[in-house]
Amino acid sequence: DFLKPKSPQAATAPAAFLLRDAVKPKTTMIIVLKPGISKRDERSVLSEIRKLGYKPHVMRGVARRVVGAIGDELTHSNLETLTAQFPKLVESVMPIQKRYKLVSREAHPANSSIRVREHSIGSKKIHVMAGPCSVESEKQLLTTAEAVKKAGATVLRGGAFKPRTSPYEFQGLGEKGLKLLAKARQETGLAVITELLSEQHVEMVAAYTDIIQIGARNAQNFQLLIAAAKTGKPVLLKRGLSMKIEEWLLAGEYVLSNENPNLLFCERGIRTFETYTRNTLDLGTIPIIKRESHCPIVIDPSQGAGRADLVAAMCKGAVAMGADALLIEVHPNPAEAWSDGAQQVTLEGFAKLMNELKSIIAAAGRE
Ligand code: PEP
Ligand code: MN
Repeated sequence: DFLKPKSPQAATAPAAFLLRDAVKPKTTMIIVLKPGISKRDERSVLSEIRKLGYKPHVMRGVARRVVGAIGDELTHSNLETLTAQFPKLVESVMPIQKRYKLVSREAHPANSSIRVREHSIGSKKIHVMAGPCSVESEKQLLTTAEAVKKAGATVLRGGAFKPRTSPYEFQGLGEKGLKLLAKARQETGLAVITELLSEQHVEMVAAYTDIIQIGARNAQNFQLLIAAAKTGKPVLLKRGLSMKIEEWLLAGEYVLSNENPNLLFCERGIRTFETYTRNTLDLGTIPIIKRESHCPIVIDPSQGAGRADLVAAMCKGAVAMGADALLIEVHPNPAEAWSDGAQQVTLEGFAKLMNELKSIIAAAGRE
């Protein structure tokens, strides 16, 4: 807050003006529209919001429509006049107090569900995204895709651009890997998720995938998040290696504030003092994200544990705690995998896990 000029006048001094331009403090208001109003009425409210200097983002729930309006804190007028101006159309107007706005539950009280091909993630059905850490070959990918589909997965995962700690390790097949994912989708009907590593590849990756994965190492690469958001494709945002929950929510805000409401948060373990596991899978984020945000939460126990023998138990815990989807690494021969061999479950291990999950899914009131 100390960066904010104290008054609009103070902002006319050159240095303060530059500061204001760089910082541009924003204010966000939530406008709840009355149920059942027509498209035409909605347009007239939106056009008034624009006239008042705000950028409106419409969020459509089952019961009602809510508009998040973002304006410049220095020049905004009070949107509270909207209720008087449109008494038949606008139910209420209120400011959002949290630093994250559009991802917050305040902005959108109902759960959001994200459309991915014929699926809806964040609905009653628990979705399982499964597949190898890296796409290695046609045979490896297709064998895995067929097996995970048979066991009940709806989305095929596989990295074509890999963020490896060492530059000497396998970096991914690139576009060839994306083509194999598209082929596997065609043969199995599974939707596809793959990681976008660089802004340079945004159009290419978006052309092949159904969900864009932003990896833990890029979770605060804001320009990459904006580029991913602008494709309009659903974005799965992993939690960074040492990212606080508020920072993660704010990173998600970069997606929603760039006209893309299709955001999934994905917990994949954080770095702690513990070295028994590769990371510490923070299942406590599930009820926290559910409380703070309307966006679905996905759990990735594979990067979380770093060991295949812990994956099934972590999946069960995640479902019991309210996760909407799981992201699981599966490989036909983990010992020979080109990346993350220790944490990938076998095809048989995956089928067994999916079977064991059934009773937990039912107990959690999910499908
Ligand atoms: C992955 O999913 O294979 C991966 C690299 O994940 P993360 O970004 O969470 O490390
Ligand atoms: Mn991996």
